[in-house]
Amino acid sequence: MAAATRLISRLTLVTGGGSGIGRSVCQRFASEGASVVVADISEESANETLGSLSGDLRGQVHMAAVVDVSSKESIKQLVTSIQTRYFQPPSVCVNAAGITQDDFLLSMEEEHFDRVIQVNLKGSFLVTQAVAQALVACGAPKGSIVTVGSIVGKVGNLGQANYAASKAGVQGLTRTAAKELSRFGIRCNCVLPGFISTPMTDKVPEKVISKMKSLVPLGRMGEPAEVADVCAFLASDDSRYVTGASIEVTGGLFIG
Ligand code: NAP
Repeated sequence: MAAATRLISRLTLVTGGGSGIGRSVCQRFASEGASVVVADISEESANETLGSLSGDLRGQVHMAAVVDVSSKESIKQLVTSIQTRYFQPPSVCVNAAGITQDDFLLSMEEEHFDRVIQVNLKGSFLVTQAVAQALVACGAPKGSIVTVGSIVGKVGNLGQANYAASKAGVQGLTRTAAKELSRFGIRCNCVLPGFISTPMTDKVPEKVISKMKSLVPLGRMGEPAEVADVCAFLASDDSRYVTGASIEVTGGLFIG
């Protein structure tokens, strides 16, 4: 339950905000007082999320926007439209846009490898860079960038060479960004979800899901809101001494 108003006057950009974990992040952040920019490749789903956001707290104004995070030009337009609307860049950013295109290594098409890297890894880089550049340019005193990785980036997963590589990559990206951006007051962290019930995992065969559930010490899949809770912590001053970290949100899956 959102107990707090700790995100009041935090303008927050959430990519992948139209679905699953990104949508829950938008809802949680709005409930804690943030103004939320719901950005997604799908205009319809971004608008659907926008319609679900609470806005009763001080100064809250939300908006929906279309973005393709794999395109530098599209991100540039997004950041410009945010600055035009709010007269400031977002001080919080959650990189939740992501895709899977699974296949076994022996048969994976090069295009499927490239596309997953482009969206999940390059997209996180481009958004992080654009937001950090805008924050530094306006002399903002602090910022928090949260990137949604995956436990699979640490341990690998059958059929996900592209996805696991992209998610390992965002951890390296985040640690480096944390080192470079700390002098500007910008913290950068990852959350590493395990198996969370979203449209992404709806595609996974029931047989695989029940096998996975049996491996989770807490005995169930996670809910998007449980990932959003950790993102809200990382966005807020409650985590002011946390940067370069990766927090697992897995119910204990693969703790060793
Ligand atoms: P989801 O429900 O499919 O949400 C992902 C959202 O990102 C969708 O709205 C999708 O739009 C959007 N998107 C896709 N490509 C985009 C692009 N190029 N630019 C902007 N938006 C784009 O999946 P989810 O499960 O919530 O995943 C959210 C994040 O959590 C992802 O980074 C995922 O890798 C990560 N994650 C998920 C799990 C899990 O178990 N669910 C576990 C670990 C990590 P379309 O639907 O129109 O493609």
